[in-house]
Amino acid sequence: LRILGIETSCDDTAAAVVDSQRTILSQACRNQLKYHQPWGGIVPSIAKNHHYENLVPVVAEVMKDIEWNTIDAIATSVKPGLVISLWQGINFTRQLLQKYTHLSFIPIHHMEAHALTVRLTHDVPFPYMVLLASGGHCILGIVEDVDKFYRLGETKDIAPGEAFDKSAREMKLHEHPLVQDMAGGAAIGYLAREGDEKRYQLITSRYSAKMKDCSFSFGGMLSQIRRVIGKESIYYGSSSTDEQKLKDFAACIQASIVRHIETRVHRAILFCDTIQKSQWKQRLVLAGGVASNLYLRQRINDLCSHYGIELVCPPVEFCTDNGVMIAWNGIERYRRNLNVFERMPEIVVPEGRSPLGSDISEQV
Ligand code: ATP
Ligand code: FE
Repeated sequence: LRILGIETSCDDTAAAVVDSQRTILSQACRNQLKYHQPWGGIVPSIAKNHHYENLVPVVAEVMKDIEWNTIDAIATSVKPGLVISLWQGINFTRQLLQKYTHLSFIPIHHMEAHALTVRLTHDVPFPYMVLLASGGHCILGIVEDVDKFYRLGETKDIAPGEAFDKSAREMKLHEHPLVQDMAGGAAIGYLAREGDEKRYQLITSRYSAKMKDCSFSFGGMLSQIRRVIGKESIYYGSSSTDEQKLKDFAACIQASIVRHIETRVHRAILFCDTIQKSQWKQRLVLAGGVASNLYLRQRINDLCSHYGIELVCPPVEFCTDNGVMIAWNGIERYRRNLNVFERMPEIVVPEGRSPLGSDISEQV
């Protein structure tokens, strides 16, 4: 079984071919970061144009040494994400399906793909607990099966990736020669390695201190980060900011984001016992772009060791968006015959927002 995966949910145009033996036959990705950077965020029309230009060469690259008749299906992200970007992937998939009529079609939920990638790279049986931390989401949940996901908590405002990206922007790290080509979170993670997280105090916002469940909030933290940056002029190029100050503040941002996540993961571990679902917490998986953060991995690993939980993280290159995870999700769905269409249905529309699975309160 071989599946071609196509991903266009945000600013990466990615594709890959994966088979059911867990072999990655090919993969390609074109990132648009540098085109969006001057605008300080993803510009939908720019993303759309780049996907349009990139889809043909990216798919040609992954299919270079593979015969179309050896492929069984195309799996394409259809939700959630930037609708205008998702359309590009869907329309292109439709064209391919019209040309190669033997292919089936599998619509993919981008966050489900993040949650399942680990099963391609590691032997991780269901069920497992997962933290999905990325540019647009922060979800803590249980993956009980390919299409059975229970949410324990999610962000009430912004995602940790957005907090990282906006902080990096305020610190003008996109002008910093050492880290300017990295995504905001990666840039902060890089500088933080040599920083002192205790130099600045970022206190937990009253709102998130009040929450005693597994939900997240990074909005108050970001406001505070912005205030300190403004007050102390902590940005690249500022006359009062040397390299060490940037590194220290980066460490401080990283530590407060990670600390917040850590408290919620801890609560989720304890919660599994209170509802007598201790099998859920045998394994914890970190996924999504922010899961490539090594400090986060280390802190969550310490927490897991304390409770005898196995922590499993996909390799860093499969944490941020890629085609492999979409193709793999296709394999997982194809094998169970979950939403596998012989032809693409007439109406396939992208969805900007789409909750993954169901709330835990509906289950226990
Ligand atoms: P979503 O998956 O929610 O739709 P997305 O697809 O845009 O959002 P991903 O590609 O999964 O997001 O992740 C991108 C995010 O990961 C960015 O916000 C980026 O700053 C962050 N990120 C990447 N590397 C690191 C790192 N080393 N440390 C922290 N954050 C990181
Ligand atoms: Fe993503």
